[in-house]
Amino acid sequence: MHASLRLDIVVSVYNEEAALPAFHAEVSRAVATLASRGVVARILYVNDGSIDRSGEILDRFADRGGVEVIHLSRNFGHEAAMLAGLDHATADHVAFLDADLQHPPAEIPRAFTLASEGWDVVLMQRQESEDESGLRRLLNRVFYRTLDHLARFPVEANVSDFFLIGPPVVEVLQREFRERTRFLRGFVQWVGFRRIVIPYVAAARVAGTSKYHGPRLLALARDASLSFSSAPLRTGFAAALVMFAISMVVAAYSVVGWMVGKPPSGYTTLVLFMTVASAVQFGLMAIQGEYIAQIVDEAKGRPVYLVARRVASRGEAAERRQAA
Ligand code: UDP
Ligand code: MG
Repeated sequence: MHASLRLDIVVSVYNEEAALPAFHAEVSRAVATLASRGVVARILYVNDGSIDRSGEILDRFADRGGVEVIHLSRNFGHEAAMLAGLDHATADHVAFLDADLQHPPAEIPRAFTLASEGWDVVLMQRQESEDESGLRRLLNRVFYRTLDHLARFPVEANVSDFFLIGPPVVEVLQREFRERTRFLRGFVQWVGFRRIVIPYVAAARVAGTSKYHGPRLLALARDASLSFSSAPLRTGFAAALVMFAISMVVAAYSVVGWMVGKPPSGYTTLVLFMTVASAVQFGLMAIQGEYIAQIVDEAKGRPVYLVARRVASRGEAAERRQAA
């Protein structure tokens, strides 16, 4: 069989016991569709330290074939889990999607067809749905607009962790992207190559609850800006200019007042000036702190994730060797 007709489907799983049976059934249907077109697809589940029964459920899927499960030693987070999946992928095409059926597995065969026609990055773009809360939609738009503005490359909106990448991109992401502050959905847009965006309609989460709440979304936004832009660091210059202008006005006012013998009573001005100035300074220090923390993290160079054990379907290794 031709080497390019292989696909690894990476799915990161954290406490998804309720969603997994339905998800696995659907993704297996997609695998069967692919098989009917001569594509050998394998499902690579990454168990990101689930504390529910997800681990056992995944091992049972592995008994049935076509599946490999990578159990991480603890919860390392979605980005780390996706990297673990990518590192263990052996096919030259790799698809990523979430385990909660918000990313319909039925779209994978269509994405693969595009990849086999020569598209290196197939991005799945979520169509905005009416039942999403207005606030979430607004935050979403602000997030992508800001990112697009800060990044030095075009960023497609509403493209999250649902995409399929072809041979050159798989290789680049496996070999060259070893940084620790990870933002895979940004990396796939950064690399360039031939990319295509296809729309899909997101379903509601089948079961369980979203693990991305306010603080996690904020952390994601922070990591996105840290890993794609130095613009926040440069705000110091703008702040300095503004503070300088203000101090000039205050100084001129005080000096003139003093010369005409009516020095302004300084208390209010002083308090205002000092509090505003120190708030600006602390803010800038915080921004610098974020970048320094990132440098420290990179310098330590600790692993992004640790694998506790791997469970592969019987015959999986032999099948793969044949397929290659
Ligand atoms: N996930 C993970 N590790 C985590 C949190 C989430 O692997 O620490 C997985 C989760 O099981 C799901 C995907 O990442 O498959 C996306 O998570 P979720 O659905 O909670 O995020 P949302 O869709 O709300 O952005
Ligand atoms: Mg989800």
